[in-house]
Amino acid sequence: MKLTVALLSLFLVASAVVNGEETEELPLAELCDPEICKLPNCRCSSTQIPGGLAPRDTPQFVMSTFDDNVNIINIETYREMLYDRKNSNGCPAGATFYISHEYTNYRAVNELYNNGFEIALHSITHRTPQTFWAEATKEDMRKEFADQRVQMAHFANIPLTAIQGIRMPFLQLAGNASFEVLKENDMLYDCSWPTRNFINPGIWPYTLHYASNQDCPIPPCPTASIPGPWILPMIGWIDQMGFHCSMADACFAPPSVNDENAWFEFITENFERHYKGNRAPFGIFFHEGYFRFNPAVRNAVTRFLNVVNNLPDAFMVNSRDVIEWVKSPVPVNEYKRQPCRQNVPTNCPFSSCGPLRATHTEEQFWMQICNVCPRVYPWYGNPLGV
Ligand SMILES: [Zn+2]
Repeated sequence: MKLTVALLSLFLVASAVVNGEETEELPLAELCDPEICKLPNCRCSSTQIPGGLAPRDTPQFVMSTFDDNVNIINIETYREMLYDRKNSNGCPAGATFYISHEYTNYRAVNELYNNGFEIALHSITHRTPQTFWAEATKEDMRKEFADQRVQMAHFANIPLTAIQGIRMPFLQLAGNASFEVLKENDMLYDCSWPTRNFINPGIWPYTLHYASNQDCPIPPCPTASIPGPWILPMIGWIDQMGFHCSMADACFAPPSVNDENAWFEFITENFERHYKGNRAPFGIFFHEGYFRFNPAVRNAVTRFLNVVNNLPDAFMVNSRDVIEWVKSPVPVNEYKRQPCRQNVPTNCPFSSCGPLRATHTEEQFWMQICNVCPRVYPWYGNPLGV
């Protein structure tokens, strides 16, 4: 056994040399040993429930997430669907917004933050082609995410440290680069990595101290040891033909978008795979436009969230809350007695700015922000528009 491991590491080092350029000389991660890699800061990729809890003692976390810009149209949907919801423990229900910069209304972001929701990053440019992200360097990732964190905090007037997570555009990973930038900036997690092999039972969040055994549907995936950031795997749904969908609004064979009951059943079936299984966090990953164009789907999701809010052992939370629980797992009975997450509201000294000249296009932009107006439209390489 030891010999096999030794031979395997020899092979891994050898391939690191071959791929020297792409891994930027970072040594490949070694196999994970759960005896060495322990909570709260290290966890091997695994379907085992953190803390060795039994499924019935494990809180079923439900993560509702929305991607792309936040504007005065989609905030209406968020207000109606999400605000003033409470879980059965009396704590406010959470949701996470992976926000891209272009056309984002930062006054609306400030409102989401003040209502207790998680503000996370989805890049400044969200540019095409997708290959930009696959080939992105560390410097690109700094300009798209580390800079965006500063930008978001500045224009939405929220604390920098409140922003802890990212999701890559198109769920396109960039090998080690984005994770190295998370580590550099002391950020908590990435939620961009789908899985097909670990849906049932589902894979729980883990760290990159050691090699991941998660399948890599949209390569390149990280290969180096990058201690620090957590992977919050995107466990997708299974559609009516048995195909896997990473995002719920991108299934190949979903129920008819006009059939509310069929959609409610569809969501429930996918949820029960988690709830009656190893209780890996359940994701409801949508873009708001899908709800706006398909009211029946929106109603089905709303009904489903109402059910979740009434279950004694399921909790709609911000994505980062899941990582916090995984770091120090407690049984559901204890979890329910914990105090609710506190959110200190921030004000929005309101500015309406424009027209602002963009440096990347002929277009002119207007911005609604909680700060003084920038000189030009903020963009890649100039996140504050100075
Ligand atoms: Zn997107």
